[in-house]
Amino acid sequence: MERLIEGHKRFLAEVFPAKKSHFHLLAEGQSPEWLFITCADSRVLPDLILGTEPGDLFISRSIGNVVPATSQDVDGVTATVEYAVEVLRVKHAIVCGHSDCGALKAAIERKSLENLPQARRWLEHVEAAFAYKQPLNSADGESADLAALIRGNVVAQLTNLRVQPLVAQAVTEGWLMVHGWYYDILKGRIEEYDEHQRKFLPLVR
Ligand SMILES: [Zn+2]
Repeated sequence: MERLIEGHKRFLAEVFPAKKSHFHLLAEGQSPEWLFITCADSRVLPDLILGTEPGDLFISRSIGNVVPATSQDVDGVTATVEYAVEVLRVKHAIVCGHSDCGALKAAIERKSLENLPQARRWLEHVEAAFAYKQPLNSADGESADLAALIRGNVVAQLTNLRVQPLVAQAVTEGWLMVHGWYYDILKGRIEEYDEHQRKFLPLVR
């Protein structure tokens, strides 16, 4: 824990004083423009890779960046999406998967989830990734197969997001846009799913 306490000391001494007025504004409320749905993976740091600040991103994280297709049970992601769209009126909703995702590895290997009853049920939501699996990309090297499945999962979860009633209505009314991203940890680059070309293209060209 020592490292975290030291980090918080540095935040209090350096970061907070420098951004004090910004934090004062934020203490009154938030109006984030983006809903960011991503994996719980420790290597995905949205604010770091996007240059965003406190107050910018409304974030939902769960293993496999899942958006459940049907919500018979209550679940945290669907509740977060509802709040982001209906209350915060975010302008964009982004589903962001990442390279080397353990959730998709587990979906391939299945056995690794034997002792994780909740995770196993949760990750049934990524099964659709197989149906949306993207073409292999030689630039992904040895992990091309896994990367193609992870991209497929982004498309699958994006499809689930689109049909959520509040999302579908907001998209039809024209004030919400949805996006599917793939973040490559090794290269540091983000790709965006192009709905018309039905493929992932670099976000920065
Ligand atoms: Zn992951």
